[in-house]
Amino acid sequence: MVITSFVSQGCNGKNNENSSEVDAFVENLISEMTLEEKIGQMTQVDQRYLNDPDDIRKYFLGSLLSGGGSTPPENNPPAWAEMYDGYQQNALSTRLQIPLIYGIDAVHGHNNVLGATIFPHNIGLGCTNNPDLVREVARATAVEVAATGIDWTFAPCVAVPQDIRWGRTYEGFSEDPDIVAELSGASVEGFQSSSLGNSSSILACAKHYIGDGGTTWGTGLDDKIDRGDTQLSEAELREIHLPGYLTALEAGVGSVMASFNSWNDEKLHGHRYLLTDLLKNELSFKGFVVSDWAGIDDIPGDYKNDIANSINAGMDMVMVPGMPEGHSYVEFQQLLKEAVEEELVAQERIDDAVKRILTIKYEMGLFDKPFSDRSLLSQVGSEEHREIARQAVRESSVLLKNDELLPLSKNIVRVHVSGKRANDVGAQCGGWTISWQGDNGDITPGTTVLRAIQNSVSSSTEVTYSMDGSNSEGATAAVVVIGEDPYAEMQGDKETLDLDPDDIAALQRINSAGVPMVVVMLSGRPLIIDDYIKDWSGFIAAWLPGTEAAGITDIIFGDYSPTGKLSYSWPKKTSQLPFNSRTENYDPLLPLGFGLSY
Ligand code: BGC
Ligand code: BGC
Repeated sequence: MVITSFVSQGCNGKNNENSSEVDAFVENLISEMTLEEKIGQMTQVDQRYLNDPDDIRKYFLGSLLSGGGSTPPENNPPAWAEMYDGYQQNALSTRLQIPLIYGIDAVHGHNNVLGATIFPHNIGLGCTNNPDLVREVARATAVEVAATGIDWTFAPCVAVPQDIRWGRTYEGFSEDPDIVAELSGASVEGFQSSSLGNSSSILACAKHYIGDGGTTWGTGLDDKIDRGDTQLSEAELREIHLPGYLTALEAGVGSVMASFNSWNDEKLHGHRYLLTDLLKNELSFKGFVVSDWAGIDDIPGDYKNDIANSINAGMDMVMVPGMPEGHSYVEFQQLLKEAVEEELVAQERIDDAVKRILTIKYEMGLFDKPFSDRSLLSQVGSEEHREIARQAVRESSVLLKNDELLPLSKNIVRVHVSGKRANDVGAQCGGWTISWQGDNGDITPGTTVLRAIQNSVSSSTEVTYSMDGSNSEGATAAVVVIGEDPYAEMQGDKETLDLDPDDIAALQRINSAGVPMVVVMLSGRPLIIDDYIKDWSGFIAAWLPGTEAAGITDIIFGDYSPTGKLSYSWPKKTSQLPFNSRTENYDPLLPLGFGLSY
Protein backbone atom coordinates (compact mmCIF):
# COMPACT_ATOMS: atom_id res chain seq x y z
CA MET A 1 0.00 0.00 0.00
CA VAL A 2 1.33 3.40 -0.95
CA ILE A 3 0.75 5.82 1.89
CA THR A 4 2.07 8.80 -0.03
CA SER A 5 -1.04 8.91 -2.14
CA PHE A 6 -3.21 10.15 0.68
CA VAL A 7 -0.86 12.52 2.44
CA SER A 8 -0.46 16.06 1.06
CA GLN A 9 2.12 16.05 -1.63
CA GLY A 10 5.30 17.98 -1.40
CA CYS A 11 4.98 18.88 2.26
CA ASN A 12 5.63 15.58 3.88
CA GLY A 13 9.06 14.08 3.54
CA LYS A 14 8.56 11.16 5.88
CA ASN A 15 6.12 9.08 3.86
CA ASN A 16 8.18 6.50 2.14
CA GLU A 17 10.20 5.22 5.04
CA ASN A 18 7.00 5.22 7.07
CA SER A 19 4.72 3.34 4.73
CA SER A 20 6.25 -0.06 5.43
CA GLU A 21 6.18 0.71 9.14
CA VAL A 22 2.47 1.59 8.94
CA ASP A 23 1.73 -1.53 6.92
CA ALA A 24 3.57 -3.74 9.35
CA PHE A 25 1.81 -2.21 12.34
CA VAL A 26 -1.64 -2.46 10.77
CA GLU A 27 -1.19 -5.95 9.39
CA ASN A 28 0.09 -7.21 12.69
CA LEU A 29 -2.88 -5.69 14.49
CA ILE A 30 -5.36 -7.16 12.03
CA SER A 31 -3.82 -10.60 12.43
CA GLU A 32 -4.69 -10.43 16.12
CA MET A 33 -8.27 -9.23 15.68
CA THR A 34 -11.40 -11.32 16.01
CA LEU A 35 -14.24 -10.88 13.53
CA GLU A 36 -16.22 -9.00 16.21
CA GLU A 37 -13.33 -6.59 16.72
CA LYS A 38 -13.04 -5.99 12.98
CA ILE A 39 -16.76 -5.36 12.65
CA GLY A 40 -16.47 -2.93 15.56
CA GLN A 41 -13.96 -0.86 13.58
CA MET A 42 -16.46 -0.64 10.75
CA THR A 43 -19.28 0.64 12.98
CA GLN A 44 -19.97 4.33 13.59
CA VAL A 45 -22.59 5.45 16.13
CA ASP A 46 -23.90 8.92 17.01
CA GLN A 47 -22.84 9.47 20.63
CA ARG A 48 -26.34 10.57 21.60
CA TYR A 49 -27.69 7.14 20.61
CA LEU A 50 -25.25 5.09 22.69
CA ASN A 51 -27.34 3.01 25.06
CA ASP A 52 -24.42 3.12 27.47
CA PRO A 53 -20.88 4.52 27.02
CA ASP A 54 -19.62 1.08 28.02
CA ASP A 55 -21.04 -0.18 24.70
CA ILE A 56 -17.93 1.32 23.09
CA ARG A 57 -15.91 -1.34 24.89
CA LYS A 58 -18.50 -4.07 24.67
CA TYR A 59 -19.05 -3.71 20.89
CA PHE A 60 -15.49 -2.59 20.04
CA LEU A 61 -16.86 0.54 18.36
CA GLY A 62 -14.28 2.06 16.06
CA SER A 63 -15.94 5.40 15.52
CA LEU A 64 -18.43 7.84 16.98
CA LEU A 65 -19.96 10.92 15.48
CA SER A 66 -21.87 13.96 16.56
CA GLY A 67 -24.61 14.56 14.03
CA GLY A 68 -26.10 18.06 13.81
CA GLY A 69 -26.98 19.15 17.37
CA SER A 70 -25.46 16.08 19.06
CA THR A 71 -23.70 18.09 21.75
CA PRO A 72 -22.55 17.33 25.28
CA PRO A 73 -25.19 18.25 27.94
CA GLU A 74 -23.44 21.57 28.48
CA ASN A 75 -22.37 23.03 25.17
CA ASN A 76 -18.98 24.69 25.67
CA PRO A 77 -15.54 23.84 24.24
CA PRO A 78 -14.03 22.25 27.40
CA ALA A 79 -17.16 20.10 27.81
CA TRP A 80 -16.65 18.77 24.27
CA ALA A 81 -13.03 17.86 25.06
CA GLU A 82 -14.19 16.20 28.27
CA MET A 83 -16.83 14.19 26.40
CA TYR A 84 -14.35 13.11 23.74
CA ASP A 85 -11.71 12.03 26.25
CA GLY A 86 -14.29 10.06 28.21
CA TYR A 87 -15.38 8.07 25.17
CA GLN A 88 -11.77 7.55 24.15
CA GLN A 89 -11.07 6.11 27.58
CA ASN A 90 -13.79 3.53 26.94
CA ALA A 91 -12.22 2.56 23.62
CA LEU A 92 -8.79 2.20 25.20
CA SER A 93 -10.16 -0.22 27.75
CA THR A 94 -10.67 -2.86 25.05
CA ARG A 95 -8.32 -5.83 24.69
CA LEU A 96 -6.40 -4.30 21.76
CA GLN A 97 -6.76 -0.67 22.93
CA ILE A 98 -7.64 0.65 19.50
CA PRO A 99 -8.54 4.36 19.72
CA LEU A 100 -11.79 5.80 18.34
CA ILE A 101 -11.91 8.16 15.41
CA TYR A 102 -14.59 10.79 16.15
CA GLY A 103 -16.33 12.66 13.31
CA ILE A 104 -18.47 15.79 13.13
CA ASP A 105 -19.97 18.14 10.56
CA ALA A 106 -17.59 21.07 10.91
CA VAL A 107 -18.85 22.47 7.61
CA HIS A 108 -18.45 26.21 8.28
CA GLY A 109 -16.28 26.32 11.35
CA HIS A 110 -16.76 23.99 14.33
CA ASN A 111 -20.43 24.79 13.98
CA ASN A 112 -22.01 22.57 16.65
CA VAL A 113 -19.94 24.19 19.37
CA LEU A 114 -21.29 27.21 21.21
CA GLY A 115 -18.78 30.05 20.94
CA ALA A 116 -16.87 28.68 17.95
CA THR A 117 -16.07 30.95 15.00
CA ILE A 118 -18.72 30.49 12.32
CA PHE A 119 -17.38 31.03 8.79
CA PRO A 120 -19.43 31.60 5.62
CA HIS A 121 -21.11 28.52 4.17
CA ASN A 122 -19.49 27.18 0.99
CA ILE A 123 -21.72 29.18 -1.37
CA GLY A 124 -20.02 32.33 -0.04
CA LEU A 125 -16.54 30.82 -0.22
CA GLY A 126 -17.27 29.96 -3.85
CA CYS A 127 -17.84 33.66 -4.56
CA THR A 128 -14.38 34.50 -3.15
CA ASN A 129 -12.83 32.10 -5.64
CA ASN A 130 -9.76 32.38 -3.41
CA PRO A 131 -8.13 29.02 -2.65
CA ASP A 132 -5.61 30.55 -0.24
CA LEU A 133 -8.43 31.98 1.84
CA VAL A 134 -10.39 28.71 1.72
CA ARG A 135 -7.27 26.87 2.90
CA GLU A 136 -6.91 29.34 5.77
CA VAL A 137 -10.57 29.00 6.77
CA ALA A 138 -10.23 25.21 6.83
CA ARG A 139 -7.00 25.46 8.83
CA ALA A 140 -8.63 27.66 11.48
CA THR A 141 -11.61 25.30 11.60
CA ALA A 142 -9.26 22.33 12.07
CA VAL A 143 -7.60 24.02 15.04
CA GLU A 144 -10.98 24.63 16.70
CA VAL A 145 -12.09 21.04 16.02
CA ALA A 146 -8.82 19.55 17.25
CA ALA A 147 -9.07 21.64 20.42
CA THR A 148 -12.17 19.67 21.40
CA GLY A 149 -10.40 16.38 20.65
CA ILE A 150 -12.42 15.63 17.54
CA ASP A 151 -10.43 13.98 14.78
CA TRP A 152 -12.47 14.23 11.64
CA THR A 153 -14.77 16.61 9.79
CA PHE A 154 -17.40 15.55 7.26
CA ALA A 155 -16.17 18.29 4.93
CA PRO A 156 -15.60 19.63 2.36
CA CYS A 157 -18.92 19.15 0.63
CA VAL A 158 -17.83 19.12 -3.01
CA ALA A 159 -21.36 19.00 -4.41
CA VAL A 160 -21.95 20.87 -7.66
CA PRO A 161 -25.59 21.94 -7.22
CA GLN A 162 -27.39 22.30 -10.54
CA ASP A 163 -30.83 23.23 -9.18
CA ILE A 164 -31.03 25.94 -6.53
CA ARG A 165 -34.36 24.61 -5.28
CA TRP A 166 -32.22 21.99 -3.51
CA GLY A 167 -31.97 22.86 0.20
CA ARG A 168 -28.28 21.97 0.25
CA THR A 169 -27.31 24.45 -2.48
CA TYR A 170 -25.39 26.58 0.04
CA GLU A 171 -23.23 23.60 1.03
CA GLY A 172 -21.72 23.56 -2.46
CA PHE A 173 -19.09 26.11 -3.53
CA SER A 174 -20.61 26.59 -6.96
CA GLU A 175 -22.72 25.31 -9.83
CA ASP A 176 -19.46 25.42 -11.78
CA PRO A 177 -17.24 22.30 -11.54
CA ASP A 178 -14.08 24.37 -12.11
CA ILE A 179 -14.69 26.52 -9.04
CA VAL A 180 -15.56 23.46 -6.98
CA ALA A 181 -12.38 21.72 -8.12
CA GLU A 182 -10.24 24.73 -7.32
CA LEU A 183 -11.57 25.08 -3.78
CA SER A 184 -12.00 21.41 -2.79
CA GLY A 185 -8.32 20.61 -2.81
CA ALA A 186 -7.46 23.80 -0.92
CA SER A 187 -10.02 22.96 1.73
CA VAL A 188 -8.58 19.46 2.22
CA GLU A 189 -5.08 20.94 2.54
CA GLY A 190 -6.34 23.28 5.24
CA PHE A 191 -8.01 20.56 7.30
CA GLN A 192 -5.26 17.96 7.02
CA SER A 193 -2.31 20.41 6.83
CA SER A 194 1.08 19.10 5.76
CA SER A 195 0.61 15.84 7.67
CA LEU A 196 -2.33 14.05 9.24
CA GLY A 197 -0.12 13.47 12.25
CA ASN A 198 0.16 17.14 13.23
CA SER A 199 -1.65 17.84 16.48
CA SER A 200 -4.03 20.35 14.89
CA SER A 201 -4.69 18.32 11.73
CA ILE A 202 -8.07 16.73 11.27
CA LEU A 203 -9.14 14.16 8.72
CA ALA A 204 -11.15 15.64 5.85
CA CYS A 205 -14.03 13.88 4.08
CA ALA A 206 -15.03 14.73 0.53
CA LYS A 207 -18.82 14.32 0.27
CA HIS A 208 -21.33 13.25 -0.96
CA TYR A 209 -19.96 10.84 -3.50
CA ILE A 210 -21.21 11.30 -6.20
CA GLY A 211 -23.78 13.40 -8.01
CA ASP A 212 -25.57 14.73 -4.91
CA GLY A 213 -25.97 18.12 -6.60
CA GLY A 214 -27.36 16.68 -9.82
CA THR A 215 -30.66 15.15 -8.71
CA THR A 216 -33.88 15.78 -10.57
CA TRP A 217 -36.77 17.60 -8.87
CA GLY A 218 -39.56 15.12 -8.09
CA THR A 219 -37.29 12.09 -7.62
CA GLY A 220 -36.23 12.82 -4.03
CA LEU A 221 -37.74 12.54 -0.56
CA ASP A 222 -41.40 13.66 -0.44
CA ASP A 223 -41.28 14.00 -4.22
CA LYS A 224 -38.81 16.85 -3.88
CA ILE A 225 -35.09 16.77 -4.72
CA ASP A 226 -32.89 15.86 -1.75
CA ARG A 227 -31.69 12.23 -1.93
CA GLY A 228 -33.13 11.95 -5.43
CA ASP A 229 -31.94 10.45 -8.70
CA THR A 230 -29.11 11.91 -10.76
CA GLN A 231 -30.08 11.19 -14.34
CA LEU A 232 -26.94 11.68 -16.39
CA SER A 233 -24.70 9.79 -18.76
CA GLU A 234 -21.40 8.62 -17.31
CA ALA A 235 -19.57 11.26 -19.33
CA GLU A 236 -21.75 14.01 -17.82
CA LEU A 237 -21.42 12.59 -14.32
CA ARG A 238 -17.64 12.66 -14.66
CA GLU A 239 -17.56 16.09 -16.27
CA ILE A 240 -19.78 17.86 -13.75
CA HIS A 241 -19.59 15.93 -10.49
CA LEU A 242 -16.13 14.32 -10.40
CA PRO A 243 -13.66 17.25 -10.63
CA GLY A 244 -14.04 18.21 -6.95
CA TYR A 245 -13.01 14.69 -5.94
CA LEU A 246 -9.97 14.75 -8.20
CA THR A 247 -8.44 17.76 -6.46
CA ALA A 248 -9.48 16.45 -3.04
CA LEU A 249 -7.71 13.19 -3.83
CA GLU A 250 -4.65 15.01 -5.09
CA ALA A 251 -4.55 16.90 -1.82
CA GLY A 252 -4.57 13.58 -0.01
CA VAL A 253 -8.12 13.44 1.34
CA GLY A 254 -8.30 10.47 3.71
CA SER A 255 -12.03 9.75 3.63
CA VAL A 256 -14.97 10.00 1.26
CA MET A 257 -18.67 9.87 2.21
CA ALA A 258 -21.11 8.02 0.00
CA SER A 259 -24.18 9.95 -1.08
CA PHE A 260 -27.87 9.37 -0.45
CA ASN A 261 -28.68 9.94 -4.10
CA SER A 262 -29.00 7.37 -6.87
CA TRP A 263 -27.35 7.44 -10.26
CA ASN A 264 -29.83 6.44 -12.96
CA ASP A 265 -31.94 4.73 -10.33
CA GLU A 266 -29.19 2.81 -8.56
CA LYS A 267 -28.35 3.88 -4.98
CA LEU A 268 -24.81 5.15 -4.51
CA HIS A 269 -24.56 3.32 -1.19
CA GLY A 270 -24.60 0.01 -3.05
CA HIS A 271 -22.81 1.13 -6.19
CA ARG A 272 -19.79 -1.09 -6.71
CA TYR A 273 -18.78 0.48 -10.00
CA LEU A 274 -18.63 4.01 -8.57
CA LEU A 275 -17.30 3.17 -5.08
CA THR A 276 -14.79 0.49 -5.98
CA ASP A 277 -14.04 0.43 -9.70
CA LEU A 278 -13.91 4.19 -10.14
CA LEU A 279 -12.90 5.61 -6.76
CA LYS A 280 -10.67 2.92 -5.32
CA ASN A 281 -9.29 1.27 -8.45
CA GLU A 282 -9.21 3.84 -11.23
CA LEU A 283 -8.50 6.82 -8.96
CA SER A 284 -6.35 4.84 -6.49
CA PHE A 285 -8.10 6.14 -3.38
CA LYS A 286 -6.38 4.50 -0.41
CA GLY A 287 -8.39 6.08 2.42
CA PHE A 288 -11.77 4.78 3.58
CA VAL A 289 -15.36 5.26 2.45
CA VAL A 290 -17.97 6.05 5.12
CA SER A 291 -21.70 5.76 4.56
CA ASP A 292 -24.04 8.65 5.13
CA TRP A 293 -26.56 8.65 7.99
CA ALA A 294 -28.40 5.28 7.80
CA GLY A 295 -27.76 5.63 4.09
CA ILE A 296 -27.39 1.89 3.49
CA ASP A 297 -31.00 1.38 4.66
CA ASP A 298 -32.32 2.79 1.40
CA ILE A 299 -30.72 0.08 -0.74
CA PRO A 300 -33.52 -2.24 -1.92
CA GLY A 301 -33.83 -5.46 0.12
CA ASP A 302 -33.82 -6.35 3.81
CA TYR A 303 -31.27 -4.96 6.23
CA LYS A 304 -28.88 -7.88 6.04
CA ASN A 305 -28.80 -7.52 2.26
CA ASP A 306 -28.33 -3.78 2.57
CA ILE A 307 -25.29 -4.42 4.73
CA ALA A 308 -23.82 -7.07 2.44
CA ASN A 309 -24.49 -5.06 -0.71
CA SER A 310 -22.95 -1.86 0.59
CA ILE A 311 -19.84 -3.49 2.00
CA ASN A 312 -19.35 -5.54 -1.14
CA ALA A 313 -19.77 -2.36 -3.16
CA GLY A 314 -16.86 -0.82 -1.24
CA MET A 315 -18.27 0.73 1.95
CA ASP A 316 -15.65 0.58 4.69
CA MET A 317 -17.40 2.19 7.65
CA VAL A 318 -21.15 2.38 8.24
CA MET A 319 -22.77 5.37 9.98
CA VAL A 320 -25.46 3.27 11.60
CA PRO A 321 -26.13 5.77 13.50
CA GLY A 322 -28.38 4.09 16.12
CA MET A 323 -31.49 6.29 16.18
CA PRO A 324 -34.24 4.77 18.34
CA GLU A 325 -36.55 4.61 15.31
CA GLY A 326 -33.89 2.96 13.13
CA HIS A 327 -31.62 -0.10 13.21
CA SER A 328 -29.47 -0.48 16.30
CA TYR A 329 -25.72 -0.94 16.18
CA VAL A 330 -26.17 -4.29 17.93
CA GLU A 331 -28.40 -5.47 15.09
CA PHE A 332 -26.00 -4.10 12.48
CA GLN A 333 -23.06 -5.96 13.97
CA GLN A 334 -25.01 -9.20 14.36
CA LEU A 335 -26.18 -9.15 10.74
CA LEU A 336 -22.77 -8.25 9.35
CA LYS A 337 -21.27 -11.13 11.31
CA GLU A 338 -23.88 -13.49 9.89
CA ALA A 339 -23.23 -12.16 6.41
CA VAL A 340 -19.53 -12.99 6.76
CA GLU A 341 -20.23 -16.42 8.22
CA GLU A 342 -22.63 -17.15 5.38
CA GLU A 343 -20.01 -15.92 2.89
CA LEU A 344 -22.24 -13.14 1.62
CA VAL A 345 -19.30 -10.89 2.42
CA ALA A 346 -15.74 -12.12 1.98
CA GLN A 347 -13.28 -12.02 4.87
CA GLU A 348 -10.81 -10.21 2.55
CA ARG A 349 -13.28 -7.37 2.05
CA ILE A 350 -13.60 -6.99 5.83
CA ASP A 351 -9.82 -7.00 6.21
CA ASP A 352 -9.44 -4.42 3.46
CA ALA A 353 -11.99 -2.12 5.10
CA VAL A 354 -10.36 -2.47 8.53
CA LYS A 355 -6.91 -1.95 7.06
CA ARG A 356 -8.02 1.30 5.47
CA ILE A 357 -9.51 2.56 8.72
CA LEU A 358 -6.60 1.53 10.95
CA THR A 359 -4.08 2.98 8.52
CA ILE A 360 -5.72 6.38 8.81
CA LYS A 361 -5.87 6.09 12.59
CA TYR A 362 -2.17 5.26 12.63
CA GLU A 363 -1.31 8.08 10.23
CA MET A 364 -3.18 10.49 12.47
CA GLY A 365 -1.08 9.49 15.44
CA LEU A 366 -4.14 8.33 17.37
CA PHE A 367 -2.36 5.29 18.78
CA ASP A 368 0.26 7.58 20.34
CA LYS A 369 -1.93 10.54 21.26
CA PRO A 370 -5.52 9.45 21.66
CA PHE A 371 -6.68 12.35 23.86
CA SER A 372 -7.58 15.98 23.18
CA ASP A 373 -4.87 18.66 23.20
CA ARG A 374 -6.43 21.22 25.51
CA SER A 375 -3.68 23.75 24.91
CA LEU A 376 -5.59 24.55 21.70
CA LEU A 377 -8.84 25.46 23.51
CA SER A 378 -8.02 29.17 23.78
CA GLN A 379 -8.22 29.34 19.98
CA VAL A 380 -11.89 28.35 19.78
CA GLY A 381 -13.74 31.50 18.73
CA SER A 382 -10.53 33.54 19.07
CA GLU A 383 -10.10 37.08 17.74
CA GLU A 384 -7.58 35.76 15.24
CA HIS A 385 -10.06 33.26 13.80
CA ARG A 386 -12.89 35.80 13.78
CA GLU A 387 -10.61 38.08 11.76
CA ILE A 388 -10.16 35.32 9.16
CA ALA A 389 -13.94 34.86 9.10
CA ARG A 390 -14.44 38.60 8.60
CA GLN A 391 -12.06 38.52 5.65
CA ALA A 392 -13.98 35.57 4.22
CA VAL A 393 -17.24 37.52 4.61
CA ARG A 394 -15.98 40.61 2.82
CA GLU A 395 -14.50 38.55 -0.02
CA SER A 396 -17.66 36.44 -0.37
CA SER A 397 -20.15 39.32 -0.43
CA VAL A 398 -21.11 40.13 -3.99
CA LEU A 399 -22.08 43.67 -4.99
CA LEU A 400 -24.83 43.19 -7.55
CA LYS A 401 -26.21 46.68 -8.00
CA ASN A 402 -24.95 50.16 -7.16
CA ASP A 403 -26.63 53.38 -8.29
CA GLU A 404 -23.75 55.34 -6.83
CA LEU A 405 -25.14 55.10 -3.31
CA LEU A 406 -22.34 52.84 -2.08
CA PRO A 407 -20.04 53.09 -0.31
CA LEU A 408 -21.88 55.02 2.40
CA SER A 409 -19.95 57.65 4.29
CA LYS A 410 -19.13 56.81 7.89
CA ASN A 411 -20.20 60.36 8.66
CA ILE A 412 -23.65 59.90 7.15
CA VAL A 413 -26.19 61.92 9.16
CA ARG A 414 -28.70 59.17 9.73
CA VAL A 415 -28.82 55.56 8.59
CA HIS A 416 -31.96 53.52 9.11
CA VAL A 417 -31.44 49.76 9.52
CA SER A 418 -34.34 47.46 8.82
CA GLY A 419 -35.57 43.96 8.12
CA LYS A 420 -36.19 41.09 10.49
CA ARG A 421 -32.77 39.60 9.81
CA ALA A 422 -30.80 42.77 10.52
CA ASN A 423 -30.15 41.77 14.12
CA ASP A 424 -30.14 37.99 13.86
CA VAL A 425 -26.95 35.91 14.19
CA GLY A 426 -28.93 32.72 13.59
CA ALA A 427 -30.17 33.93 10.21
CA GLN A 428 -26.61 34.88 9.25
CA CYS A 429 -25.37 31.39 10.10
CA GLY A 430 -28.13 29.33 8.46
CA GLY A 431 -28.42 25.54 8.85
CA TRP A 432 -25.78 23.32 10.45
CA THR A 433 -25.23 25.81 13.27
CA ILE A 434 -25.58 24.68 16.91
CA SER A 435 -28.53 22.56 15.78
CA TRP A 436 -29.00 20.48 12.64
CA GLN A 437 -31.43 22.80 10.83
CA GLY A 438 -30.19 26.01 12.52
CA ASP A 439 -32.39 28.60 14.24
CA ASN A 440 -33.11 32.32 14.24
CA GLY A 441 -31.89 34.54 17.05
CA ASP A 442 -28.95 34.69 19.45
CA ILE A 443 -27.89 31.09 19.01
CA THR A 444 -24.16 31.77 19.49
CA PRO A 445 -21.96 34.85 20.11
CA GLY A 446 -21.39 36.94 17.00
CA THR A 447 -21.78 40.35 15.40
CA THR A 448 -25.06 41.10 13.63
CA VAL A 449 -25.38 43.47 10.67
CA LEU A 450 -27.04 46.07 12.92
CA ARG A 451 -24.22 45.86 15.47
CA ALA A 452 -21.59 46.02 12.73
CA ILE A 453 -23.21 49.19 11.34
CA GLN A 454 -23.30 50.77 14.80
CA ASN A 455 -19.61 49.91 15.20
CA SER A 456 -18.68 51.39 11.81
CA VAL A 457 -20.20 54.87 11.80
CA SER A 458 -18.84 58.05 13.35
CA SER A 459 -20.08 59.27 16.73
CA SER A 460 -22.14 61.98 15.05
CA THR A 461 -24.14 59.50 12.94
CA GLU A 462 -27.59 58.51 14.09
CA VAL A 463 -28.47 54.81 13.61
CA THR A 464 -32.17 54.00 13.83
CA TYR A 465 -33.69 50.55 13.52
CA SER A 466 -37.05 48.92 12.87
CA MET A 467 -37.71 45.31 12.06
CA ASP A 468 -40.61 45.99 9.72
CA GLY A 469 -39.34 48.98 7.76
CA SER A 470 -41.36 51.58 9.64
CA ASN A 471 -40.01 54.98 10.80
CA SER A 472 -37.37 55.39 8.13
CA GLU A 473 -38.71 58.82 7.13
CA GLY A 474 -35.98 61.43 6.97
CA ALA A 475 -33.04 59.00 7.03
CA THR A 476 -30.17 59.70 4.63
CA ALA A 477 -30.07 56.04 3.58
CA ALA A 478 -31.52 52.72 4.67
CA VAL A 479 -29.88 49.31 4.93
CA VAL A 480 -32.52 46.59 4.63
CA VAL A 481 -31.55 43.03 5.51
CA ILE A 482 -33.75 40.41 3.83
CA GLY A 483 -33.43 36.72 3.05
CA GLU A 484 -34.27 33.22 4.24
CA ASP A 485 -34.68 31.59 7.63
CA PRO A 486 -32.29 28.75 8.50
CA TYR A 487 -32.75 25.28 7.03
CA ALA A 488 -30.64 22.24 6.19
CA GLU A 489 -31.05 19.06 4.18
CA MET A 490 -34.59 17.99 3.26
CA GLN A 491 -36.35 20.91 4.96
CA GLY A 492 -34.68 23.39 2.64
CA ASP A 493 -36.06 21.93 -0.59
CA LYS A 494 -38.41 24.60 -2.02
CA GLU A 495 -40.27 24.63 -5.28
CA THR A 496 -40.48 28.42 -5.43
CA LEU A 497 -37.91 30.93 -4.22
CA ASP A 498 -40.01 34.03 -3.68
CA LEU A 499 -39.14 36.72 -1.15
CA ASP A 500 -40.53 36.43 2.38
CA PRO A 501 -43.77 38.50 2.62
CA ASP A 502 -42.41 40.32 5.71
CA ASP A 503 -39.36 41.35 3.69
CA ILE A 504 -41.55 42.57 0.84
CA ALA A 505 -43.59 44.65 3.30
CA ALA A 506 -40.45 46.17 4.86
CA LEU A 507 -39.05 47.03 1.42
CA GLN A 508 -42.34 48.66 0.44
CA ARG A 509 -42.49 50.81 3.58
CA ILE A 510 -39.02 52.17 3.01
CA ASN A 511 -39.67 52.67 -0.65
CA SER A 512 -42.78 54.71 0.05
CA ALA A 513 -40.86 56.81 2.59
CA GLY A 514 -38.55 57.74 -0.31
CA VAL A 515 -35.36 56.73 1.48
CA PRO A 516 -32.64 55.37 -0.84
CA MET A 517 -31.89 51.83 0.20
CA VAL A 518 -29.13 49.28 0.17
CA VAL A 519 -30.49 45.74 0.31
CA VAL A 520 -28.37 43.05 1.96
CA MET A 521 -29.56 39.50 1.30
CA LEU A 522 -28.80 36.69 3.75
CA SER A 523 -29.73 33.49 1.94
CA GLY A 524 -28.57 30.04 0.98
CA ARG A 525 -29.19 30.69 -2.74
CA PRO A 526 -30.43 33.34 -5.16
CA LEU A 527 -34.07 34.33 -4.56
CA ILE A 528 -36.48 35.70 -7.15
CA ILE A 529 -36.17 39.52 -7.00
CA ASP A 530 -36.98 40.62 -10.53
CA ASP A 531 -40.05 42.63 -9.43
CA TYR A 532 -38.22 44.49 -6.66
CA ILE A 533 -34.59 45.18 -7.59
CA LYS A 534 -35.54 48.27 -9.63
CA ASP A 535 -36.38 50.04 -6.34
CA TRP A 536 -33.00 49.32 -4.76
CA SER A 537 -30.07 51.72 -5.02
CA GLY A 538 -27.62 49.10 -3.85
CA PHE A 539 -27.73 45.33 -3.54
CA ILE A 540 -25.27 43.00 -1.80
CA ALA A 541 -25.67 39.22 -1.70
CA ALA A 542 -23.96 38.18 1.53
CA TRP A 543 -25.16 34.51 1.50
CA LEU A 544 -24.83 32.85 4.91
CA PRO A 545 -21.84 34.75 6.27
CA GLY A 546 -21.72 33.31 9.82
CA THR A 547 -20.89 35.21 12.98
CA GLU A 548 -18.81 38.05 11.54
CA ALA A 549 -21.08 40.54 9.76
CA ALA A 550 -18.40 43.24 10.04
CA GLY A 551 -17.16 41.81 6.75
CA ILE A 552 -20.38 43.16 5.17
CA THR A 553 -19.96 46.63 6.63
CA ASP A 554 -16.37 46.65 5.38
CA ILE A 555 -18.05 46.84 1.98
CA ILE A 556 -20.99 49.10 2.87
CA PHE A 557 -18.68 51.78 4.28
CA GLY A 558 -15.93 51.40 1.70
CA ASP A 559 -13.09 49.89 3.73
CA TYR A 560 -13.00 47.15 1.12
CA SER A 561 -13.74 47.40 -2.57
CA PRO A 562 -15.89 44.34 -3.39
CA THR A 563 -14.24 41.42 -5.19
CA GLY A 564 -16.89 38.69 -4.82
CA LYS A 565 -18.28 37.13 -8.02
CA LEU A 566 -21.44 35.01 -8.31
CA SER A 567 -20.69 31.29 -8.05
CA TYR A 568 -24.30 30.55 -9.07
CA SER A 569 -26.41 32.05 -11.86
CA TRP A 570 -29.23 34.32 -10.71
CA PRO A 571 -32.52 33.47 -12.45
CA LYS A 572 -35.19 36.00 -13.37
CA LYS A 573 -38.26 33.97 -12.63
CA THR A 574 -39.51 30.76 -11.07
CA SER A 575 -40.53 29.31 -14.42
CA GLN A 576 -36.84 29.19 -15.42
CA LEU A 577 -35.99 26.69 -12.66
CA PRO A 578 -33.94 24.49 -12.73
CA PHE A 579 -31.55 27.13 -13.95
CA ASN A 580 -27.78 27.30 -14.31
CA SER A 581 -25.18 28.28 -16.88
CA ARG A 582 -25.78 25.02 -18.76
CA THR A 583 -29.46 25.81 -19.21
CA GLU A 584 -30.54 26.19 -22.82
CA ASN A 585 -31.40 29.77 -23.81
CA TYR A 586 -29.48 31.02 -20.76
CA ASP A 587 -31.17 34.29 -19.83
CA PRO A 588 -30.17 35.17 -16.27
CA LEU A 589 -31.03 38.21 -14.22
CA LEU A 590 -27.34 38.17 -13.27
CA PRO A 591 -24.91 35.69 -14.84
CA LEU A 592 -22.47 33.31 -13.19
CA GLY A 593 -19.28 35.26 -12.47
CA PHE A 594 -21.03 38.63 -12.15
CA GLY A 595 -19.98 41.06 -9.42
CA LEU A 596 -19.33 44.81 -9.24
CA SER A 597 -16.55 46.71 -7.54
CA TYR A 598 -16.05 50.36 -6.52
C1 BGC B 1 -25.80 14.37 5.90
C2 BGC B 1 -24.29 14.46 5.91
C3 BGC B 1 -23.77 14.51 7.30
C4 BGC B 1 -24.31 13.38 8.13
C5 BGC B 1 -23.87 13.41 9.57
C6 BGC B 1 -26.30 13.32 6.84
O1 BGC B 1 -27.68 13.36 6.95
O2 BGC B 1 -26.24 14.11 4.59
O3 BGC B 1 -23.89 15.58 5.16
O4 BGC B 1 -22.37 14.50 7.27
O5 BGC B 1 -25.72 13.40 8.09
O6 BGC B 1 -24.48 14.42 10.27
C1 BGC C 1 -28.85 14.61 12.69
C2 BGC C 1 -28.11 15.05 11.47
C3 BGC C 1 -28.38 14.11 10.36
C4 BGC C 1 -29.86 13.94 10.14
C5 BGC C 1 -30.14 12.97 9.03
C6 BGC C 1 -30.32 14.46 12.38
O1 BGC C 1 -31.02 14.03 13.49
O2 BGC C 1 -28.62 15.46 13.74
O3 BGC C 1 -26.75 15.20 11.68
O4 BGC C 1 -27.76 14.54 9.21
O5 BGC C 1 -30.52 13.58 11.32
O6 BGC C 1 -31.47 12.67 8.86
